Amino acid sequence: MNEDILDFLKQLIAFKSVSSDKKQAESSRQTAEFIKSKLKDIGIQADIIENEKEGTNPLVFGKLGTDSDKKTILFYSHYDVQPAEISDGWDTDPFNMTEKNDGYVYGRGTDDDKGPIAATIFAIKELKKENEELPVNLRILYEGEEESSSGGFEETVLKNRDYFGKVDGIMILDTSWFTDEQPSLDYGFRGITYLGVEIEGPSSDQHSGMVGGTIREPLIDLIYLMSKFVDLNGKVLVDGFYDKVKPLTEEETKLYENLDFSLQEYKDSIGISKVLTEDSTQTLMNMWRNPCLSIHGVEGAFSGSGAKTVVPGKVIGKVSMRLVPDQVPDEITKLFTTHAKAEFKKLNSPNHLTITPLGSGDWWFGNVNNFLFKAGKIALNEYWEINPSFARSGGSIPIIPFMEKTFKAPAIGIGVGQPSDGAHGQNERIRITNLIGGKEVIKIMLKNVGEQVQ
Ligand SMILES: [Zn+2]
Repeated sequence: MNEDILDFLKQLIAFKSVSSDKKQAESSRQTAEFIKSKLKDIGIQADIIENEKEGTNPLVFGKLGTDSDKKTILFYSHYDVQPAEISDGWDTDPFNMTEKNDGYVYGRGTDDDKGPIAATIFAIKELKKENEELPVNLRILYEGEEESSSGGFEETVLKNRDYFGKVDGIMILDTSWFTDEQPSLDYGFRGITYLGVEIEGPSSDQHSGMVGGTIREPLIDLIYLMSKFVDLNGKVLVDGFYDKVKPLTEEETKLYENLDFSLQEYKDSIGISKVLTEDSTQTLMNMWRNPCLSIHGVEGAFSGSGAKTVVPGKVIGKVSMRLVPDQVPDEITKLFTTHAKAEFKKLNSPNHLTITPLGSGDWWFGNVNNFLFKAGKIALNEYWEINPSFARSGGSIPIIPFMEKTFKAPAIGIGVGQPSDGAHGQNERIRITNLIGGKEVIKIMLKNVGEQVQ
């Protein structure tokens, strides 16, 4: 049985479905075709759906069952992968899946998301074999642009919304366990808004031997301005920023009790001796349930080595804010703009300030008491014999709230691989035990969803 799923995964890994590399468009299409044919093999209607955004990879949709007495579960994953070259430092060819004697298989996409796709397809295949009738209706929604910001995803899904019919629950197979030893179910991601803070002075770059001491330099203005965005304890200084942040409830606090989180390991993993708080739960909350502001860089500023004496004529600070329930990205963008303009005014500068939104996405906050999490808890309990934990992420996957809204159905994140799998790095891998476990957990969940009273 393992041979089968590993063989399928090996074939899937061999396709170079790197969405950021337009030269691989044909490989990506072949990946979609391969998944489609596999779905058909196991008796699922499957279709290639062209992406509404030009020059992007197609999606794979699938459906099985229309029994209105049963719940309908939609599976989401992405078949595209991050770039990988053996010269990046891989021990083996990233597109030739290799099993080592450490219990893992190595290759680009083994963890993110081709392994989870294999687990899902084989779970359905085995369920069909073992049961005359599936306990649920199934829908498949696989995209090929996730690693490139899911371009065209929303337009394509909205245009083809009718393909899926009624959906009761969304299973997201695109996360990992909480720790290498602790399987988890995911219930949240933060949202994000990203902005460019542009300050324009002289019409071109200047030399400090010419203008130094004679003008207000744009980069000096920008540094003053950016120091007004967040204080040294991480508190965001934008007026009204925290107004809509949901207060912490007792129920939510309880979700942190069962998490095997080591502050020391966290510090070691990022190579730092001190974090903002020495309280481990507070650190997790700062990562997951509290909003924050980060400064990422300055476009236009001298950043090479050596001692160039340029005075940049125009600089653009890159700032993002990770957002949480019930902050609204557009509202935060406005609050930030108002704040930046007011602070800039205080600088009394002849230079010009422009704030440009560079992208935003919603947060997701799932309900851990709904039927999906109930089924997930039972499955993790039964298969891994653990009291499951619920985890969030500080990152952002805006298509989850989008799908919840579009399908009017709740979502759950089911992790298959481990955090040490190196999802976007060299020597990406998945433990065979996790691959098989992921498949079994999906089977138990689907059975349980089918058994739960409507
Ligand atoms: Zn992924």
